Amino acid sequence: MSDTPLKLFNSLTRELEIFEPVHAGQARVYTCGPTVYNYQHIGNMRAYVFADTLGRTLSWKGFSLRHVINITDVGHLTSDADEGEDKMEKMAAREGKSAWDIARFYQEDFERDLARLNNRPVQHPRATDYVDAMIEWGKKIAPDHCYELDGGLYFDVSSVADYGRLARAVTDDGEGRIDTVEGKRNAADFAIWRKTPAGETRQMEWDSPWGRGAPGWHLECSVMGRNLLGFPLDIHTGGIDHREIHHPNEIAQNQAFCGCGSLSEAANSGAKIWMHNNFLVERSGKMSKSAGEFLRLQLLVDKGYHPLAYRMMCLQAHYRSELEFSWGGLAAALTRLKRMVMAVERLSDAVSAPTIDHAKFASSLAKFTDAMSDDLGTPVALTALEDALAVKKVDAGIKRAVIEHMDNVLGLDLFDLKRTDLRIRPKDTQMTEAEIEAELIRRKQARVAKDFAASDAIRESLAAKGVEVMDGDPLGWDWKLG
Ligand code: AMP
Ligand code: ZN
Repeated sequence: MSDTPLKLFNSLTRELEIFEPVHAGQARVYTCGPTVYNYQHIGNMRAYVFADTLGRTLSWKGFSLRHVINITDVGHLTSDADEGEDKMEKMAAREGKSAWDIARFYQEDFERDLARLNNRPVQHPRATDYVDAMIEWGKKIAPDHCYELDGGLYFDVSSVADYGRLARAVTDDGEGRIDTVEGKRNAADFAIWRKTPAGETRQMEWDSPWGRGAPGWHLECSVMGRNLLGFPLDIHTGGIDHREIHHPNEIAQNQAFCGCGSLSEAANSGAKIWMHNNFLVERSGKMSKSAGEFLRLQLLVDKGYHPLAYRMMCLQAHYRSELEFSWGGLAAALTRLKRMVMAVERLSDAVSAPTIDHAKFASSLAKFTDAMSDDLGTPVALTALEDALAVKKVDAGIKRAVIEHMDNVLGLDLFDLKRTDLRIRPKDTQMTEAEIEAELIRRKQARVAKDFAASDAIRESLAAKGVEVMDGDPLGWDWKLG
């Protein structure tokens, strides 16, 4: 629990604001979730590490948290500007499975990745469970804000005040949108409901007043956000790309539904604060899901990295900064995590003290609190945790309590991780861990007996099988798979 006010950067006002909850003592957060037509890449996962860190910070500030991350299992076309093919149906056709099976499979994979990154559980509603509510929403806003075309029901963005303020778009063309739909009144108008073309059937379709078809992607977040958390929400989050199209469209639907006016009043947008994480970027294009082997968490694990090394990598950058992925950067993050885990292991026998109040920790605790309270300053907060670990001649129980206090916010799982969990172990290694350990024991015995020829021979035979023995490494990496 921390009493320092929490400042967050509101993308709608482009200002830091003190978080004041809509409902006393509560924080209600909606995070745009994944489209479950494929695996998530690690860039997507950065968005959820950010959302989880925000949730943890709100809990630390004493708010009871209600957090929703929706599952988009219908309606998302291949372009955010609402054109192209349906992502779910396209993948279903390619894999020869039903769109429903595809959605369940990739949702489960997503949830597994969240858990591996030590994200706390939150609510995961599926869009397909809210189609009736979406139709009701459409019926309410259609008379004053929508018009029908052959393709379905379209939202007229000129019917609400300040359309596009979140994106700071100057013209209604927004971010270079191409107006390919015949009859749209404004280039930025978007589908609320998409009619199945005559003579076709979709795997996922429903009857509506605007014909049989499926809801537009933007509608689901308006509907699930309001149904599950009520308007205005406290905080709405997503990746920075959502600031340009998806969220301005959600906001327009919310204004229409609530009969709200100007966005000078942030709550009229449906949320008091809109927050966006910047992108994880990668030079070689491996982040693209269309590029064959793409960067997903499992690939990091297959190459031998513990998933929490990736969480560390995310926390080392501020969420509003771009973060460049590299394997070297990931290895450095792993090493840093390992140093922390080793320092924490030395506290493992201590019983947590009931208090974190001790003069020796005052400065690291203050640094931590100031950093996290200032728009989630995780890079500095990590150094505060390291400062606390370095404090000498202090009761181990208090130190343990201080580190627990900090790690509850950062989510690095420092007390459950073991240094052996952090060995680099690619899945294509030929030896099992037990075999490696047995060889290392033999080698140790050889060294004790001063039989250095035997010891070197074991070292070389291990190296030939891709296991590098790291003698005398200050970090104590017992071994590493090269
Ligand atoms: P999608 O499944 O495409 O809707 O994306 C899921 C989430 O990941 C959204 O919040 C996106 O804004 C976010 N996102 C997509 N690409 C990246 C990236 N490279 N880095 C960080 N966040 C991303
Ligand atoms: Zn959304």
